[in-house]
Amino acid sequence: MGRVLLAAPRGYCAGVERAVVTVEEALRRYGPPVYVRRQIVHNTFVVGDLTRRGAVFVEELDEVPDGGLVIFSAHGVSPAVRQDAERRGLRAVDATCPLVTKVHKEAVRFAEAGHQILLIGHAEHEEVEGTLGEAPGRIHVVDPARPDDVRLPEGAPVSWLSQTTLSVDETMGAVARLRERFPGLIDPPSDDICYASQNRQEAVAAIAPRCELVIVVGSANSSNSQRLVDVALGAGAGAAHLVDRVGDADELWLEGVETVGVSSGASVPEHLVGELLDWLAGHGYADTTPVTLAEETLTFSLPPGLRDRSR
Ligand code: SF4
Repeated sequence: MGRVLLAAPRGYCAGVERAVVTVEEALRRYGPPVYVRRQIVHNTFVVGDLTRRGAVFVEELDEVPDGGLVIFSAHGVSPAVRQDAERRGLRAVDATCPLVTKVHKEAVRFAEAGHQILLIGHAEHEEVEGTLGEAPGRIHVVDPARPDDVRLPEGAPVSWLSQTTLSVDETMGAVARLRERFPGLIDPPSDDICYASQNRQEAVAAIAPRCELVIVVGSANSSNSQRLVDVALGAGAGAAHLVDRVGDADELWLEGVETVGVSSGASVPEHLVGELLDWLAGHGYADTTPVTLAEETLTFSLPPGLRDRSR
């Protein structure tokens, strides 16, 4: 029968763990309702679970009543949103991942130095929306697949930044092309693609050449999960699919498949992977081999105001 190669690291990263615990801790301390602007992390199960426990997910702050407690998601917000919360007297708790905050700070520094900033990322993603707000008019979003589309005013120094969850290879390809177009292109102090995205991509790339099929657990709006599918295909997997939950998996995918690769995005609780492994075992893929490329030990402390969890 068939076998499973289980990529590691996979699943929760330090930023997601912190964001989810932030909502849980706010609910424990203050009781429902706790408002959360946008999905705290891009995972349908996590959002559904927290909703049942009293979190109220809203698109914008005008849906939060005066005096309400609102949490900003792991993807970050623009300064305008923070100012709006302050102006409204809302009690705001910021669950922005510190690695996203790092990109915001780089954007501010480059903007203060008078640069035009190329932000490689997906324009519709909340993280990009938040970073853009740090220097409106100076930041230009570059789709990683279309680096030739961007147009810049002449004369100013040009630097680049990126969304934290992109594919490393695609981003570096875009940077190389941008450097041809803008020869003085200034690099950020360090890569913006976060350790968790890189580790999960490397792990899936390691198993993909040995797999006729790779299944990635993750929600459709999760950037890093989608990139894992792209990386699996690019690294030689016969096919690769994203499933929100095991119910989305199709047994037709297993036809003629000897080895199935499994991974999950950074916002995916591990029990959803367990359900997929059970399903695969039930279809003759009970032999599971972990393939571990890195050990992750990073943790982030909770946002100010929630740090003392014993209260
Ligand atoms: Fe932070 Fe990276 Fe996790 Fe996003 S994927 S929350 S940037 S650690």
